Amino acid sequence: MAGLTIANVTKTFGDYDAVKDVSLDVRDGEFLAVLGPSGCGKTTLLRLVAGFEKISSGQIRIGSDVVSDASGSVPPEKRRVGIVFQNYALWPHMTVAENVGYSLKVAKVDKAVARQRVADALSLVNLDGLADRRPANLSGGQRQRVALARCLVAAPSLVLFDEPLANLDVHLRASMEDEFAAFHKRTGTTIVYITHDQAEAMALADRIAVMDHGRLAQLAAPRDLYREPANEMVASFIAQGIVLPARVLSAEQEGHVRVEVLGHEVVVRCRPGELPRADAKICIRSPDLEIAGKGEAGFDATVTRAIYKGGAVRVELSPTLQPDLHLHVERQEPGSFEPGSQIRLKIMSGWLIPNGKPA
Ligand code: ATP
Repeated sequence: MAGLTIANVTKTFGDYDAVKDVSLDVRDGEFLAVLGPSGCGKTTLLRLVAGFEKISSGQIRIGSDVVSDASGSVPPEKRRVGIVFQNYALWPHMTVAENVGYSLKVAKVDKAVARQRVADALSLVNLDGLADRRPANLSGGQRQRVALARCLVAAPSLVLFDEPLANLDVHLRASMEDEFAAFHKRTGTTIVYITHDQAEAMALADRIAVMDHGRLAQLAAPRDLYREPANEMVASFIAQGIVLPARVLSAEQEGHVRVEVLGHEVVVRCRPGELPRADAKICIRSPDLEIAGKGEAGFDATVTRAIYKGGAVRVELSPTLQPDLHLHVERQEPGSFEPGSQIRLKIMSGWLIPNGKPA
């Protein structure tokens, strides 16, 4: 296996930068998810790494080998990169074993050696016993595992996944997520996994690269991305963060500041060294908001909508002081949240969105 280095890579189509000055390192054996809204450049980045597209500037290295730079581009078949696509791309007329072994046949690998490698790859993805089936007689999850085995049989340095679970139903997605995680743990394969499903990225990845309009917005471990978003886009994109304008009043104990939000003073977490400033923003999430008790400090809000979802209610509100802001809280217990009714809320914790360059 090998790591991947993307250094200052830009890809321009006409006059549009689909990928803009992106730099990131994927460590040997790491599982990196690339996450972002539709059109942010995820697939383009993957195609650049695979060698299907040429970069406009920058450099891509797989291990210590430069595969793309200003002087040229190593063709896809020489990069030793495996790709698992969303639509499986299996040959319908071939059996599972023939699909998996196709690249070995083309490369004229000795038949007995090829048979063993196919058997090993099928066993890695828990498909022993299905070698003679045709793709039409497999479930969606099994087809996706055949696609994975087909990519592994070529002993790639790096495996790229392009939204591999997007075509599967919710239950199968969850079980395939578990299988991908187990597979990664077992093999230590370096993986770059493109998805727009944040729950999937959070569940699987060691680190997540969030892209926004072709740029890398933040590269961090799932927990850090959730707790310490580097900018407003990441804050609102991850787990439906609520971004609120704030004024930093003073630095408190290490890593905390006192802020004024909606006329209410709260202590929130922050990067070290934050100083008082007027035009700040904080990120909070629904669990950070609680309904204030009688006489408690907080801010008033009006319920705009209540959506009942099984045992929980999503209550949408707008603060009296700034009715253009939209907040939501999830409540487990039933209660009366009639549209138009007033609630007093308090902010229990939050994160001061840093000023300046992403981490
Ligand atoms: P999605 O999640 O919807 O698949 P994405 O994040 O993978 O989106 P890309 O497919 O990488 O996004 O596209 C990024 C931007 O580049 C889009 O605006 C797209 O229209 C543009 N783009 C991609 N390929 C080309 C191309 N061959 N020619 C021109 N523009 C392109």
